[in-house]
Amino acid sequence: MDELEHKYEVEVKAAEKLQKLPEEVKNELKASGMMDDKGKLKLKGVSPKMLKKMKQEYVDCPVLKEEIQFVQCFVCPNFQSRVMGKVLCKGDALKKK
Ligand code: SF4
Repeated sequence: MDELEHKYEVEVKAAEKLQKLPEEVKNELKASGMMDDKGKLKLKGVSPKMLKKMKQEYVDCPVLKEEIQFVQCFVCPNFQSRVMGKVLCKGDALKKK
């Protein structure tokens, strides 16, 4: 696999409990068709089993400087791919919500 250009490798951590998505993120996901009106996520290429796991994961985002639910990280414009439990992150500045 080609080495993608990225600034950070961010470790994906697992939490005990399901992580809640902030309302603004949900609204964004809905607006882009990645979540239905009932709040069910629809991510391309992600099986329900994977999704369940993803919901328990989070990253310490180096750009926003806070813990971000992995689902939010996955749909972030900086997200490039996930390799061996790490997110390759472009590290561009993001607008803080
Ligand atoms: S992809 Fe986005 S949310 Fe994930 S670590 Fe990078 S800036 Fe943070």
